[in-house]
Amino acid sequence: MSEKKIIVIGAGLGGLSAAISLKQAGYAVEIFEKNEQIGGKLNVLKECGYTFDLGPSILTLPHIFERLFTRSGKRMSDYFTLRALRPHWRNFFADGITLDLYPEPEKMAAEARKVGEPPENIERFLKYSADLYDLTNEGYFEAGLDNWRDFARHYGPWKFFKFDLFRSMHQGVNAHLQTQYFRDIFDFFIKYVGSSAYRAPAFMNSLPTIQFRYDLWYVDGGLYNIARGLDRLLAEIGVPVHLNAEVSEVRREEGRVTGLVANGRFHAADIIVSNMEVIPAYEKLLSADKKFIASLEKKLEPACSGLVLDLGLDCQYQQLAHHNFFFSGHQREHFKTVFEKHELPADPTIYLVAASKTDGTVAPPGCDCLKILPHIPYINDDHPLTREDYLRFKDRIIDKLERMGLKNLRQHIVFEHVLTPPDIREKYNSNKGSIYGVVSDRWKNLAFKAPKQSTLYQNLFFVGGSVNPGGGMPMVVLCGQNVAKKIVAWDKP
Ligand SMILES: Cc1cc2nc3c(=O)[nH]c(=O)nc-3n(C[C@H](O)[C@H](O)[C@H](O)COP(=O)(O)OP(=O)(O)OC[C@H]3O[C@@H](n4cnc5c(N)ncnc54)[C@H](O)[C@@H]3O)c2cc1C
Repeated sequence: MSEKKIIVIGAGLGGLSAAISLKQAGYAVEIFEKNEQIGGKLNVLKECGYTFDLGPSILTLPHIFERLFTRSGKRMSDYFTLRALRPHWRNFFADGITLDLYPEPEKMAAEARKVGEPPENIERFLKYSADLYDLTNEGYFEAGLDNWRDFARHYGPWKFFKFDLFRSMHQGVNAHLQTQYFRDIFDFFIKYVGSSAYRAPAFMNSLPTIQFRYDLWYVDGGLYNIARGLDRLLAEIGVPVHLNAEVSEVRREEGRVTGLVANGRFHAADIIVSNMEVIPAYEKLLSADKKFIASLEKKLEPACSGLVLDLGLDCQYQQLAHHNFFFSGHQREHFKTVFEKHELPADPTIYLVAASKTDGTVAPPGCDCLKILPHIPYINDDHPLTREDYLRFKDRIIDKLERMGLKNLRQHIVFEHVLTPPDIREKYNSNKGSIYGVVSDRWKNLAFKAPKQSTLYQNLFFVGGSVNPGGGMPMVVLCGQNVAKKIVAWDKP
């Protein structure tokens, strides 16, 4: 049993997973969190009888979360209740076509036939996706590979080429599917990591498998119940969490970190794990020089941000499913505008979640609660948009939803809450308001994020969306488990 002390900066899912996994490995662990509650971007808003998931609303790969509980001798089902959703998503197109996604092949085939997509194309595409997933999962995900050297050693030259390295995600989709409908739908799986299907490497086509093989889940009462469950687990296994405790500095001595300062007090640590994103942490806590930051910025461009619009309605829209996508008429343009021109898109693809379709506790009877999330560019600090710019964009979103069938939406709003990229940056210290950490871009980083161990200080580690394997709830939880393994291997070789 080690007596060493590890401090985790930040109680996002990545930080919580690292803290629990390190405690399980025998360390004394404490967490310092700047906000008044744990969970980070996994956040909740309760107002006027409505409950909104302010952050994530789609849960995938729950077996990764389950490990946090089983390795502590507990059962996740004693902490929160999962429910598989049908359909997974409903997709609305500008011409009035609506298509649902189902993991059951017969149901999916019926949807494909509606628009003349041969069901065999979908089956072939999902087989291609599953092969990419299995390949990516055994090394990049589960072995926690961090860079090209790790990759080459783990996979060897032959397996390496099975990653479909010479195509973009969109080219991989196009090669398998023939209708614009299904091309747009499967391109938009890139939403899970806030990137562009035209810039992401083809192996990101592994993403549909996380849904089609492992299902898509809701947590009864709202996804914030995951954070509540983890809070209970932390208390049971003895990990103290200091809330309202923003870390302002990490102290260093001779190539090592020695502890940190929170609320004006120094706390010594043998090892520090930062769940604050890599670039903000080096800039603000470690005062890294400009040249080093510039070298990180070149590879670790932020993923997109989002406008998070929560609406409490006095009615229900019967045509909505739990998860809905309202597609852009020009999705290529949407990706180009957000990820290359870095401008607000004229006609974005919009994600809309209506948890009230599944869960009667999140809205008053007969009412819907909607969370609406168009992906938009991260903050450009040289030419920042104003709150008014974002609110004008919000109006454009509501216009589009009204046009695509949510008749008189404006008139039915009885509660409204808006989070803009600057709000997101301020709340979570995320780099330029990014919501998924680092972008997956085949030209900039081939989808690699930062390594888990600092290149400057050997006893400083990172966890979360800016670190491999990247953003999304299951990935940051996996990252927390992998960083714990890495620390144990480094500390007790
Ligand atoms: C609107 C939205 C929708 C999303 N939808 C989905 C979805 O449907 N499915 C999905 O899987 N993922 C989704 N995501 C992404 C997912 O939420 C994130 O990838 C994941 O929760 C990030 O976890 P993290 O641990 O990396 O970081 P965070 O959650 O950002 O946690 C970092 C923590 O560190 C704290 N912190 C930062 N600096 C300091 C400091 N100096 N001192 C102390 N504490 C500090 C922050 O307050 C925060 O609590 C969504 C995100 C958003 C915002």
